[in-house]
Amino acid sequence: MTTRPDRTDARSLGEASLAVHGGKMLDSTRALRTPLVMSNSFALPDDPSEISWSAYEPGLYTRNTGVNQAALEAKLAALDGGETAVVLASGVAALHAVFFTHVRVGDHVVVSDVVYEATWRLWTELLPERYGIHATFVDVTDPNAVRAALRPETRLVCVEAIANPTTKVADIAMLAEITHAAGAILMVDSTFTPPPFYRPLTDGADLVMHSLTKYINGHGDAMGGAVIGRADLIDPIKGDAMVDVGGVISPFNAWMIQRGSVTLPLRLRQHFASAQRVAEMLEADPRVAFVAYPGLASHPQHEVAARQFGGREFGGMMAFAVEGDPAAQNRFVSHLRLITSGFSLGHEDTLIVHTAADGPRTATYPEQFRRYGHLRLSVGLEDADDLMADLSAALDATAL
Ligand code: PLP
Repeated sequence: MTTRPDRTDARSLGEASLAVHGGKMLDSTRALRTPLVMSNSFALPDDPSEISWSAYEPGLYTRNTGVNQAALEAKLAALDGGETAVVLASGVAALHAVFFTHVRVGDHVVVSDVVYEATWRLWTELLPERYGIHATFVDVTDPNAVRAALRPETRLVCVEAIANPTTKVADIAMLAEITHAAGAILMVDSTFTPPPFYRPLTDGADLVMHSLTKYINGHGDAMGGAVIGRADLIDPIKGDAMVDVGGVISPFNAWMIQRGSVTLPLRLRQHFASAQRVAEMLEADPRVAFVAYPGLASHPQHEVAARQFGGREFGGMMAFAVEGDPAAQNRFVSHLRLITSGFSLGHEDTLIVHTAADGPRTATYPEQFRRYGHLRLSVGLEDADDLMADLSAALDATAL
């Protein structure tokens, strides 16, 4: 199987062209769609004794990388403007792969005080308890707090560009400068801010991580994760965390994600335009207690978001609550007809999930999140008018 360098390696291509052609391969069948190669093993040379069993290398064994994984990696590196990429079985496998590879006993990590559940648990519980590696959680919008949290042994700073679930926006250029001055590396979980909307590497991040399960696949039918960056940071992840820990992606999922990502730039435009309208509609309704969306002037980091993301689009994710107690939030969700209660995000379906305000993870959330709990809304690809009608009807039916 050969790549087509004339199309796939052209970093000068526009974003829509890269989404269509990035990582495309033609084999002897000349099939235009990169074929799905499910084989977990490949024919070796007559003398395989020099081959390293721990090498990241196509054509050996699918845990050492598969054909479809490699094609997806080429595409994601091009989309995010990175030297290389590694694709793993899920977003969490990608997060763990970064931590496993780049943080050792004795190192220290600085983590945003608002992060995805698994990142939070890894750094509050699993890694400190099992390996004695400690993290300081910090408000990453406060440069002095970040500087104060850094120590000589800090190896990694870990943030989300738009944080799940509060939508706190991190100023990546500012954080990269502070992190590098302390001799550490900056990892940005960009799951809420996929390319071409945002490319954290261009603002100085060292590693970008995505849950491919979300916008990049976009259709809610495959799990995957990726890390993109310089080869000196990504290659050790491939050799250590991928081949010898084994969180490898299934070829089928890699093929599905490659397929889903073809329409990524188009889909993002629709997600983001609808999200802006939905957020404005919710904020204008007196029965809605609060709306957190970076595209609203009321968002605490609205100006940072406008500068960082180009001023016109602000993502497809928001959090809000209706006036009332947790039971009112659940009643509201039960009256939705088009919008579905579901855990994931970035799918074609609009998904909502209610999280009550309890537990230590929510202690650093803004006051309204702690008072009401919140409904996380992932705005899908339906007509914005239909989504707004569904939300309005559910507000009417909730009897607030
Ligand atoms: N990072 C963020 C910001 C997420 O929202 C998620 C999942 O929701 C993940 C990482 C984990 O991704 P996955 O579910 O693919 O493991």
